[in-house]
Amino acid sequence: MRIARLTAAITLLIPALLTTSAQARSPACPGTGTDAAVDSPVEIDAATACPAALPRLTIAYAPVVDGTVTLQDREPLGGAPSEHDDIRFLPNGSASHVVFGGRTYTLLNVHYHGPAEHRFAGQDFAPLEAHLVHELAGPAQGYLVLSVMINARRDDWSEHDDLLREPPSTVGATKRVHGVSLAALVPPPGRRTFYRYTGSLTTPEYDKPVTWIVFRQPGSATPRHVKDVRELWDEHGNKRALQDNPIPPNIYRH
Ligand SMILES: [Zn+2]
Repeated sequence: MRIARLTAAITLLIPALLTTSAQARSPACPGTGTDAAVDSPVEIDAATACPAALPRLTIAYAPVVDGTVTLQDREPLGGAPSEHDDIRFLPNGSASHVVFGGRTYTLLNVHYHGPAEHRFAGQDFAPLEAHLVHELAGPAQGYLVLSVMINARRDDWSEHDDLLREPPSTVGATKRVHGVSLAALVPPPGRRTFYRYTGSLTTPEYDKPVTWIVFRQPGSATPRHVKDVRELWDEHGNKRALQDNPIPPNIYRH
């Protein structure tokens, strides 16, 4: 009888312990958000973001890479750059990756949207937003995108300028670039914090799930390079509008 009561007590205790452990990793957000993949982009409101210390983000990029910059042509093909086209850096090799939540994602490309797609509540859209797109290694489908808002800043040449300067102006055109420091495209370790939510790609086929990591610290490019890229498109640019999800995503602050 006593053993039976003890067993029952342990049975009750185990789910409680598991729940506590899961909550410690990923505290529940206030409100009615979801951790399921929503449509991206979304507005990021610091006031409703949840603190989350874990998991850690490890960025393991090759120190210096060569590659090509292309005015990526996607459906509809040809003609003037469409909203789905972008300026895109394709690094040679596949040595660069990130590790997040115990999963490894390989870097596929770096591309730009102008104006930015994500927006911080209470702020204007940044002139550009850089997306460093990574794909989950292995058979399961999944992406992780590092997002950096790019502001125009005079006299402040950055690694983004190396990718954005003299961009190809006809769809499908490419040019070679050398000696790109991928790590310099994102805020440096120790000085970066970010917001995270689960969403989708922002171009067709809008694949899910995507772990979005949007850095709070912006990057920069010279006003001339921002202008050169933006002028490839009309005033609407190559951004997808903010998506109106029936249930908003839980956004975690790291
Ligand atoms: Zn993108």
